[in-house]
Amino acid sequence: MDRRVFFRFLEFSIPLWYDSVSMNTRKFHVKNFGCQMNKLDSALVVSALRQSGFIPTEHASEADIVLINTCSVRRHAEDRVLSHLGHLKHIKENRPELVVAVIGCMAQRLGSDLLSHEAVDLVAGPAQLPDIPRLIEEILERRTKTLAVTDKIRTAAEPGQLHALDQFEYAYDSDANHIPGQAFVRAMRGCNQFCTYCIVPYVRGPEESRSPHVLVEQAKKLADQGVRQITLLGQTINSYSYRNGDRHYGLADLLEMTARIDGIEWIRFITSHPGRFDEAILHAMADIDKICPYLHIPAQSGSDRILKAMHRGYTARQYLDLLAQARQIVPEIAIAGDFIVGFPGETEDDFEATVGLVREARYKNCFVFKYSPRPGTRADSKMADTIPEAVKKERNLGLLEVQNEISETDNQRFVEQEVKVLVEGLSKKPHLNQADEGGKPQLIGRTATDFIVVFNGPESLAGQFAKVRIEKAGALTLFGTRIE
Ligand code: SF4
Repeated sequence: MDRRVFFRFLEFSIPLWYDSVSMNTRKFHVKNFGCQMNKLDSALVVSALRQSGFIPTEHASEADIVLINTCSVRRHAEDRVLSHLGHLKHIKENRPELVVAVIGCMAQRLGSDLLSHEAVDLVAGPAQLPDIPRLIEEILERRTKTLAVTDKIRTAAEPGQLHALDQFEYAYDSDANHIPGQAFVRAMRGCNQFCTYCIVPYVRGPEESRSPHVLVEQAKKLADQGVRQITLLGQTINSYSYRNGDRHYGLADLLEMTARIDGIEWIRFITSHPGRFDEAILHAMADIDKICPYLHIPAQSGSDRILKAMHRGYTARQYLDLLAQARQIVPEIAIAGDFIVGFPGETEDDFEATVGLVREARYKNCFVFKYSPRPGTRADSKMADTIPEAVKKERNLGLLEVQNEISETDNQRFVEQEVKVLVEGLSKKPHLNQADEGGKPQLIGRTATDFIVVFNGPESLAGQFAKVRIEKAGALTLFGTRIE
């Protein structure tokens, strides 16, 4: 049977409060948990609700509707959502008119269990985001609890639903993105990789690539709005694949098409999977200036035994060979990795193999996570979570320490160099650089290779490119002076 979206309306009686919420003063607040994909979803929801006449607020306390966009990748992220819901339950005791919506991956995973929480009025999965303004209007009107998740999540979506999702993405208002001059554009949905520890294929469904022509139109619209940098998003973005008759488009084609758009000056893409990496992507990166020489490519482990248990589809040597090939084709490339430590059965030798891989890979930076069993995944059902928390923590810190040493050493090459950055805005940690430049605030920007650069300059530079001479380099941040 085709994949169907099913809505279950569970009616129950609560006080009539709708009249107290005026149509043109309804405020909403979105709290986001999780990855870039979720940040994009939240921005889309903000945009859609604004276009439906709702007013965004930074303060949950003054909102009539609170939406929590959830992440299921780690248990900790879900625990934080549940704790947040506990807090909202207390608020609702005094303000029963408050509408609480739980959206995203956890909504899809837990469905009706979440809806039974006293605080929750709406549970909506990632594929139901386009319906959220309508569902909230209905809840305000009917005072119903509403479940809107995908019934058969691993069945390909119907064309009508894909079209609705495309329209929703296209309506994206870059104002909803808090980084000026930048926008995320979803190139793909879902994942077919089924890494044994990962919940994503079960909450975001099968891989579906969006039409390159639609993506280019969307990027043109964003360029007209002043966006200078596009980041193409996909769980395994390098497996982007779209067929139109005889013509097939891969990620390299999409990058080339996007690079032809006037106004778009930098293009990034995240996240890549090492198992299916097409060399044409590296050549596009080497040949087209607009494509940032930056690759985020998780390894997850340096032990072949653990990689196999994770169902990653490559060996440590194959992964390192890919990195070597990337550096040969794109000499200036910067590479970032992800690792999971404490996967079931990970021995000291396995962990040492991971340390060895990190030393050989010489990443720009890497993200390290402690294994967290996720219900519904193969790792959770077939492998016991054997590694004690203290050992996971020790390995996590140990691996980060190795990477920090590498970054600190390698980053010294930037000192006395000029770099070009796209300015993001005010630095969130102004204490890091005490340099006084005539009262100009401290700004943060990123190089094409994704290095974070802190310098002083006018706030009006946010969304613009700037040149900075680097004076000091730490493991995570470069510090310098703007060249006017
Ligand atoms: S590639 Fe693996 S880790 Fe990444 S989203 Fe897919 S299943 Fe999860």
